[in-house]
Amino acid sequence: MNLLNEIGSAKNVGIAGHIRPDGDCISSTLALYAYLKCARPDIRCVVFTQDNPPSIFSYLEGYDEMNLTYSFDGKFDVFVALDVSSYDRLGDALTFFEKADKTICVDHHETNPGLADVNEIRPHASSTCEVLFELFEKEYIDKAVAECLFTGIVHDSGVFQYSNMSRRSFEIVGQLVEYGFDGPKIIQETFYEKSYVQNQILGRALLESILFMDGKCIVSMVDKKMMDFYNVLPKHLEGIVNQLKNTKGVEVAIFMYEMGTQRFKVSMRSNGGVNVAKIATLFGGGGHDRAAGVEMNGTYHDIINALSHEIEKQM
Ligand code: AMP
Ligand code: MN
Ligand code: MN
Repeated sequence: MNLLNEIGSAKNVGIAGHIRPDGDCISSTLALYAYLKCARPDIRCVVFTQDNPPSIFSYLEGYDEMNLTYSFDGKFDVFVALDVSSYDRLGDALTFFEKADKTICVDHHETNPGLADVNEIRPHASSTCEVLFELFEKEYIDKAVAECLFTGIVHDSGVFQYSNMSRRSFEIVGQLVEYGFDGPKIIQETFYEKSYVQNQILGRALLESILFMDGKCIVSMVDKKMMDFYNVLPKHLEGIVNQLKNTKGVEVAIFMYEMGTQRFKVSMRSNGGVNVAKIATLFGGGGHDRAAGVEMNGTYHDIINALSHEIEKQM
């Protein structure tokens, strides 16, 4: 896809990522926003986001200009969905997406069926930010754009650690760091640093975790009561599933938090032996081979039973 050609002579462009935005989602939407400011300064661009975008990303250019209320009259000439693999994950942006004259989707989820009129889905890319780098014309990448792209890659690759990092991903990171932002500070302050209560709730989740299937699986859960007690939101629980996954011998880690009565958000991580995207997709979710998510109804035990049944089939 030639992104600028596809955007063509659009006068207004809407941009959105997925609900409960993560680092790649916030960074890719703001990267495109900053890029279009350089490449097409005459375009009126609106970035939508919902569910309290994490404030750790407030250093990114455009963060304060994001539209949180979905207030926009009329329709967009072009609407771009980034890091979104299914319509329901567009949240409140879906109506703008449906009304737009033309839609574009850039993503890296294998489970993405191609949501838009024009799609660039690269399942082997580390992140949507990596795909955007490939689509951007280098003359319009400035420090702000580079900082966004770097942040997205850092977050979706667990600081360059996961198997989604290819030689090409490292080359791109190498080119990005030339723009002169403070990469180590971004990694420390947005990926590793947690608030005191976040660490406390992580501790609780680890303490109450259960090993099963001969130690090959681990599961833990945070209920509404615990979230209220520590006064944390879902976005503060990011990273817990990865810590569970770091347990020696574990092949699949499952972390869930209670969204409502008998409704849980489930995160799964795998070391590659089990394809967790396949399992998440069975229950209406999606993601990648080694990192996937889904929302499920039932009790904690119903959900563990259903998931472990599917995990067992693949082991
Ligand atoms: P999470 O467990 O929420 O960190 O998500 C892991 C991966 O799965 C990310 O790439 C998400 O975009 C994707 N994912 C999470 N939840 C869903 C869902 N309900 N539907 C589709 N993909 C999801
Ligand atoms: Mn994402
Ligand atoms: Mn992503």
